[in-house]
Amino acid sequence: MKIDVKQTKNFLNGLLKINKIVEIRMIAKQSGYDVRKSGYFTNTDTAIQSLLNEKDYDNGGIYFVMNKIAKPDTVMAREQANKLIKTKDTTNDKMIEKYQWLFVDIDRENAVSGTSSSNEELTKLKEVTKKVYGYMRQKGFAKPIVAMSGNGYHLLYRIDMPNTEENKQLITRVLKVLSIFFSNQHTKIDTVNSNPARLCKLYGTWAKKGSETETRKFREAQILSYGDGFESINNYELLLSVVDELPKEETKRTNLTSKNKNEFNIKDFFARHNITIVSETSISGGTKYELAECPFNSDHNKDHPAVFDFDSGGQEFKCFHNSCSGNHWKEFRLFYEPNAYDTRQALPNSQKELKHDFKVEDILNYSEKIDEKVKALLRPSEIFNSQKGTNEFVPTGFKELDKLLGGGLQKTFLTILTGLSGGGKSTFCNQMVINILEKTNAKVVYYSGELTAEKLLWWLEQNIGGDYLKYDHGNNEKCYLEKKVSSAITNWLDKGLSIYNNDIGQGFDILTKTVVEGIEEKKADIIIIDNLTSVDKSMLGTSNDKYDSQSKLVNSLKEIAKRCNVHIVLLVHLRKTSNLPRVEDISGSGDIRNLADNVLILHQNTEEFKRRVEIEYGKDNHFIPSFSRGADMYLEIAKDRDFGNKDRLIPLYYSKTTRRILNDPTERKTYSWEEKLLDLPF
Ligand SMILES: [Zn+2]
Repeated sequence: MKIDVKQTKNFLNGLLKINKIVEIRMIAKQSGYDVRKSGYFTNTDTAIQSLLNEKDYDNGGIYFVMNKIAKPDTVMAREQANKLIKTKDTTNDKMIEKYQWLFVDIDRENAVSGTSSSNEELTKLKEVTKKVYGYMRQKGFAKPIVAMSGNGYHLLYRIDMPNTEENKQLITRVLKVLSIFFSNQHTKIDTVNSNPARLCKLYGTWAKKGSETETRKFREAQILSYGDGFESINNYELLLSVVDELPKEETKRTNLTSKNKNEFNIKDFFARHNITIVSETSISGGTKYELAECPFNSDHNKDHPAVFDFDSGGQEFKCFHNSCSGNHWKEFRLFYEPNAYDTRQALPNSQKELKHDFKVEDILNYSEKIDEKVKALLRPSEIFNSQKGTNEFVPTGFKELDKLLGGGLQKTFLTILTGLSGGGKSTFCNQMVINILEKTNAKVVYYSGELTAEKLLWWLEQNIGGDYLKYDHGNNEKCYLEKKVSSAITNWLDKGLSIYNNDIGQGFDILTKTVVEGIEEKKADIIIIDNLTSVDKSMLGTSNDKYDSQSKLVNSLKEIAKRCNVHIVLLVHLRKTSNLPRVEDISGSGDIRNLADNVLILHQNTEEFKRRVEIEYGKDNHFIPSFSRGADMYLEIAKDRDFGNKDRLIPLYYSKTTRRILNDPTERKTYSWEEKLLDLPF
């Protein structure tokens, strides 16, 4: 049999490293008769020799079992060890130990059976493959193995999950979501590829469907790119994050408030607003319409966002770019029909336009006089109706922290972030800012009393750059970014970040100016102040008592947070201590920690840290969660006004190569600025 030895060899070498054993199965015609042969191999050369020994092979295909086979000894004791023989005794689902691959098979829809793909058909399949590839990269998946199967395309994502019914369901659901998103009238994404003993075409062999014609040629199944290779495992959470994106009929609820709830017709809506539809595909439970344009960003047009119209009456909008992840049907409809919903449900940002009738400056200048317009006593119904009870949260992207704090940083609150010096407070802060900008539409104001704006931007770029960071040869500390990368990051940061211009000086008055401008002009949701010391140095002159003026400052900031509906993060140093740093070690006035709504302490997970924990809590303490011993750092929730969390350590991980702080060591972050630089390997 003719095979592309080099292709097959490279692939099998990689596969055997992770699977240890592979079943190769031939389902073909030999001299006009159907033959099925199977062989188990632990060695690439033996496998290839067995294939080369097969004579008179007409058409059909050569396949391999993708996932890891359990009990290799038992299998290798079978007759078909190291050779291909005719047998019905092949791998079944029960023999699989674990899933190694999420197998995305992009194939023709409604193809005439027994024909090979035409070039034209392949081009259409390739378009969809690129979309799936881009979408998965944005979700944080590693670069998959990309292959042309002969008649379609394969994306192979490495996973490592036990063969359980639950995992099978998860994989099925991921494939279903991809199918709903990306299948169209020409292209389908198979949703049946989730059985454990799944077969896949062996690369380097030929796909010979039916008879070869001028327009439908036989092709070799081949790897186009090995991407991040065989070892880059995509974790369970990533798969879940895809499942979470399953379009939900979220608008059923909101449509009820719409006046013409029974008359809403999606096609009329498209016509009314000249929305161009490029395709219409029926999906389970409804219809998918691919749009020519994303109304929110014209850069997204080529990937055709979609509107789902469910038979049950709801709709959903989905653009496949991260920066549009907050745009659902409601936002889509409001874009075209700003008054579609009850007027009380205004756009999220407009409630900040602005209701306070006081001067932010006055509060900051620690005026203690009581605002006479504010009532001292409220009826319960007044409290109920007041806007302040709405609990808006801005998620930080640190999953455990967001969970424990009820959704993230609560607007109207003040958080103190502290830790020993050199302990990574600023890096943590940078990562948080980056997470917020990626996942929300929140506006962030970043004040640094220590770094120039240029320096701070460069630090942020380093924390964002990830795989794009380049290192000088032989010097792992010094890194740089290519200009096009730097400029993509800068443009991306622009949408939500304002950095304080350190050239104009430092100190209290400057901080006042920054906060006022941040709230009034930049419509800040989050204000970060790094750090208290750099502000209060200059306050010494204005007050005899340093601690007194510190408490006044923090009090004012708290008041601002509350009245202007922002969240303020204040970085504060810790006193030098030889013990485990506790809340009491926050330097400055004791009032500060009482005033703060949340206090977070960042600890580096060093031997010294463990020693101090032992002194504080004893040898067999439960302070450090046992599952997290390999963490690089811990974020401690030392105070949490709303939920009462205390002494809670959240493990975090630091990647030295990408300079990112991660929720778990296998997390891969990708950001929407990378979209423009996306490196398609085919
Ligand atoms: Zn979009």
